[in-house]
Parts: sequence; structure tokens; C-alpha cells
Amino acid sequence: MKPDNFPEEIRPFIMPNHQGNLVYRCLGCGKEHSIKNLLYTCPDCGKVLLIHDLNFDLLKKIPGKKWQNIFDYRKMLKIPALKGIYLYHEFIGSVIPLSSIIYLGEGHTPVIEANSLLQEKVGIKFFFKNDGQNPSASFKDRGMASALSYINYLVKEKHLSDVLAVCASTGDTSASAALYAAYMQPHIKSAVLLPYKKVTPQQLSQPLGSGASVFEIPGVFDDCMKIVENLSERYNVALLNSKNAWRILGQESYSYEIAQNFEYDMRNKVIVVPIGNAGNITAVLNGFIKFYETGIIDVMPKIIGVQSKHANPVYNYYSEPDINKRRFIPVNVKPSVAQAAMIGDPVSMPRVIHLVEIYNRIAGKESTSFVEVTEQEIMDWQITANRNGHIACTHGGECLAGLSTAIKNGLVSKTDTAVLDSTAHALKFSGFQDLYFENKFPSEYEILPNKALVNFPVLMHPDDPDKVPAPGKPLTGNDFKIFINRISDEIANILDLKER
Ligand SMILES: *Cc1c(COP(=O)(O)O)cnc(C)c1O
Ligand SMILES: [Zn+2]
Repeated sequence: MKPDNFPEEIRPFIMPNHQGNLVYRCLGCGKEHSIKNLLYTCPDCGKVLLIHDLNFDLLKKIPGKKWQNIFDYRKMLKIPALKGIYLYHEFIGSVIPLSSIIYLGEGHTPVIEANSLLQEKVGIKFFFKNDGQNPSASFKDRGMASALSYINYLVKEKHLSDVLAVCASTGDTSASAALYAAYMQPHIKSAVLLPYKKVTPQQLSQPLGSGASVFEIPGVFDDCMKIVENLSERYNVALLNSKNAWRILGQESYSYEIAQNFEYDMRNKVIVVPIGNAGNITAVLNGFIKFYETGIIDVMPKIIGVQSKHANPVYNYYSEPDINKRRFIPVNVKPSVAQAAMIGDPVSMPRVIHLVEIYNRIAGKESTSFVEVTEQEIMDWQITANRNGHIACTHGGECLAGLSTAIKNGLVSKTDTAVLDSTAHALKFSGFQDLYFENKFPSEYEILPNKALVNFPVLMHPDDPDKVPAPGKPLTGNDFKIFINRISDEIANILDLKER
């Protein structure tokens, strides 16, 4: 619909016009820094930053109900810049003009209700939000759309030129960064650092296909991250990891979409997210806080963060019930099928600690909790989800395993409705499905297949038809008839089909 055709009371708001005054705010010393330059850490104390809108209170002048209407009407617009995460422009990056926004189809991913069989198995009503249906097949595109739109704006304003964007990645960050950078040629080039043999073949093919410079580094993600930090401190590069606070801002759209999807009614809702570098849970927390502060939602949903026992530093931190005794200790990760979350020293941990405190204070009770799950549970639940019509990746399986654990621990009640983040597409991690079916997981994973979930193709190449078709050598005549009949009979036999 064209802006002129919207109802009169919405028309003045349908195009964003909030004058945001964004600053980086340090979570260590509290100092604020201008966003004119790209910063990743506080120049004064070196701690991580979050972007804060000094004019945020202006957003509260519009009643929450009105905001709901604005967002709901805005969904009818056909303006590319407002079709993705910037539908919530006022909350995400209001300083970026629409003409600088990069839209590659990210955001507004489907929220799919689990079928009744699966809901029965788990014990409550729940949905998957399929963030694997983003352009590079993971949620990282939300943050990249934000970070790259901002860089594009700086380039257009001539604050930046010839940008080399770098990131360390467990696979999906690099796929996303390379995709968005490729779109912004020739102004931006990208280089990505991956832990050697610790990303899937699909994830390796993505930045290669987008034309990025790809470096494989011995070690794990945490080692790659240290190199990228070193590069960004010493050389003129733009860092695209979630240390970059613009990434967090874009990923807040995930919370806004959930709110909108459920008609802004967050009563009895539970949001389940896997945690790796902790950028995503930071964004999810901050998103709901901002919608609550502006009256767009009037109840805070429960948030459950899930980690594998093989990479569980955030879980460990919160498993100490006494707030004063909590101490963050990085862990050495062990192999995990939730490979994108195989991180022992999450960069965003200070952000999580900061926001969890605010979140619980606002919600008036402990509304955030953390659970850990085994590798076995992750695989069993992922495959079970997919056998019930989902496209969950291993991290989606991790969420489902986490929900099941949370129900058993009494963190979630039967009357709650959960929304699980399927953070990437199942196809990116199909290699783990193969290992499961073939019972070939290296012992460190501690995963054995449940026979009932294993599935293999049946090669239909019976011996008796001595002639079979081959590429370039089709069968004809009686040979072909025999072949078709024999194979059909064989399949009917295996499937126990009744004759008509
Ligand atoms: C990056 C990623 C995660 C972990 O998210 P963080 O923001 O690093 O906590 C989980 N799942 C997938 C598929 C990812 O790509
Ligand atoms: Zn500081």
C-alpha cells in the first residue's frame, strides 16, 4: 500500500521520522562515545559497548497502542528499506536514512506451531521461529543488515571509504558478513577467519561463494576472535562480530517480531535461545526491555538461555544462586553439534550480566533462566523436531532440549507457550545428521543414535533386471518395461502396499 492510502491517524507515522541521538555507552565505566567513528570497545576502559538512544524518551510520547498500529500498518508498505528489520526503524537505527539501508530479505521469519504429536511429547504449546529462513540461512543476517547499513551510511557520508570488513566466525557470521559485503561492492570487501575444520562444508562454501577472503585458523573460535581483535586494534578494518554493537541493535528485531506475531501479548510466553558468544540473547533481552519501556508490550516474557554441557560458561555463571558469589570463568570447549555456540569465553557476557539484572528488575521477578543440555539430547530433539515437520538446525534442537529440561526443572509451567529460536537452517548442519544416522560420532561427542530415529536411503538396484538405465543410456522397449515392473514390485514389497 502507498503511504497516501493509509488511514489519516497513521499517515504521519507510517514513514519513520524519529530523530534518534545514538551514542555508544560503555558497560564498564559508563562513558558515552560518539557513533561518528566505528568503536568496538571503550577507548577509556576497553570494555564492551551498547548503543543507546539519548532521545529514547521521545518514543514514549507515542502510546504503546499507537506503536502497535504503526508497526502493523507498516507491514503493508512495499518500500524495500522498511520491509526487513527496519520496520522497527525508530528502535533499531534511527540515524540511518532509508536511502542507506541494505535489505536482502532478512527478518520477518515464520513462526511455526509444533504439531500436536510434538507438543504432547514436550508437554506444552510451542512454536519454532525459523531464523534459518533468512538470506544466508541464519539469524546473523539481522545483525549484519544493521551493521552494514550503518557502514554504508558512513561511506555515503564520506566518513569511511574502501572498507575491509573482518570477522571471526563459527560459520554463520562469516556467511552473513560475506553476503552483505558482496552486495555492497565495490565499497566494501570482506575477510573472514574460521577455525580450521570447525565449520560445516556448507558454511565454508558460503563466504567462498560470496568472494570473501577466507582464512582457516588452527584452534577454536575463541582463538580466531583474539586474532580478529588484534587486527581491529592495529589495522584499519571494520569488525563485524557481535562485539560490534550495531550487530546487537539489528538482532533486537527478533524480539520485536515475536511481540508483533503474538499481537503484543507476552503473557505466559517463554522465549528460548541458544547461547554461544551471547550476542543473540543480549539482543533478545534488550529488545523486550525497549518494547516494555515504551508500553508496546505490558508483560515481559520469560527468557531461557540454553547451552551445551560442552560449552557452558554462561550456564555455570548463573548456576550460582547467590548473586554476590557469581564469578565468570571461561571454559575450554569440547566438541559440540551446536557448533555455532561452541564458545568458551563469550564476548557479550558483560552485556548479559548487565541486561539480566535490568530485565529481572523490570519484570519484578526472576524472568531469566539458564539451562544446560547434553549433546545426546540436542541431536535426539533436533531429529525428533524435523521428523515432525520442522527445519530445525542443531541449535534449534538445543532449544527444544532446553525447553524440555526447563519444564522438568519447573522453570516453565504447563500453561506457558514457548517460542524456540531455530537459529539456522537444518541443511547447514546436515553432516551431524549423517554422523548420527551412521553412528559415526567421534567419542568426544558422547552421542549414540536412537535406532527409532535413524533413516537411510534404500538403493533400488536389484540384481534380477540385468539391464538398468544409466545417464546417456536409457532403456527402451521390453527391457524398460521389465525394469519399471521389477522396481515397482520391490518398493511395494518393502512398503507392504496392498494391490488395488
Ligand atoms: C551464532 C549462532 C548461535 C549463537 O549465537 P550468539 O549470538 O553467538 O550467542 C547459535 N546458533 C547459530 C546457528 C548461530 O549461527
Ligand atoms: Zn569504558
